[in-house]
Amino acid sequence: MKVLFTGIQPTGDIHIGNYFGAIANWVRIQHDYVPFISIVDLHAITIPYETAEMPTRVEELALTLYTAGLDFKTTTLFVQSEVPGHADLTWIFNTITPLGELERMTQFKDKREQFRATVNVGLLDYPVLQAADILIYKGEVVPVGQDQVQHVEFTREVARHFNARFGDTFPECQALLTATPKVMGLDGDAKMSKSKGNTIGLLETPEQVWAKLAPAKTDPARVRRTDPGTPEKCTIWSYHLLVTPEAERAEIHTGCTTAGIGCIDCKRRLHKHLMTVLDPIRARYQDLSGRKQEVRDRLSANAEHCRTVAGDTILEVKGKMGLNRIWKI
Ligand code: ATP
Ligand code: MG
Repeated sequence: MKVLFTGIQPTGDIHIGNYFGAIANWVRIQHDYVPFISIVDLHAITIPYETAEMPTRVEELALTLYTAGLDFKTTTLFVQSEVPGHADLTWIFNTITPLGELERMTQFKDKREQFRATVNVGLLDYPVLQAADILIYKGEVVPVGQDQVQHVEFTREVARHFNARFGDTFPECQALLTATPKVMGLDGDAKMSKSKGNTIGLLETPEQVWAKLAPAKTDPARVRRTDPGTPEKCTIWSYHLLVTPEAERAEIHTGCTTAGIGCIDCKRRLHKHLMTVLDPIRARYQDLSGRKQEVRDRLSANAEHCRTVAGDTILEVKGKMGLNRIWKI
């Protein structure tokens, strides 16, 4: 079976963009691969954060991922910083990465704007660490959202560079997308992002979700109830595509374009279908939150396994690069 690798940052609460854009896929395909899924805290520290909050964020994220359906027994969910090989391989990849390739990365450009006051080398180097994350397990399949496709392509480049210079070592990985790889944020301006505060959380209550949907922007051209709308210009419509059954969607689409249905009605219907997905997830989360210690133990055991796999790759890589003296003496 091929190796699957993917990651998620402990930068805030998981939102429906993460879920429908990526996590739902992880759950669906986890048994078709050898799956490594990482809570990438080394990536998360490239933007400002509270040190005291990090351990809780990591554990909450693990709980949420298990709640969303990751297999506790067979999927290797682990914390990135507990496996030193990731940083080790990053340095090696840094030395074969042209600077220009990193400077043109879309995510770097976005985050550089978002965190102007604190831009650090880690933010620029993020894709190299991501390449190391994937390749240290010789990952071939990388299920992600649209925003990460450029980084997966970059990872292929890194593998090619390394293989050409030091001999065949790494596979060329492929991104795997869901049918909805870019879920827009509630602001309608950018993709939904944990760090942008434009999210609907996976664990939010019906009341919390409604409080966000009710004032959310719709098609800006639809000023009055009697104005016909263009669903394709409306964020609420894009959410219907995630959760509403096809027949009802067609009815809503026609209703919008003929002004037969108002925005509030349209939002109410979305709310109902969204909560049909979110309610059982929230209920499972309640059950799991009593089993925190089990989750902690599982993360530790998984990290141990990862250290072994990653350690083998590091030995192979260093050997090929002439950095293997230590194993000869
Ligand atoms: P941050 O704002 O801290 O970068 P994020 O919401 O972008 O957080 P990540 O942890 O960076 O989340 O990404 C986790 C996974 O979710 C990745 O596979 C990413 O491609 C996917 N993802 C993130 N946002 C979206 C979105 N709006 N639509 C679809 N997939 C998404
Ligand atoms: Mg992100």
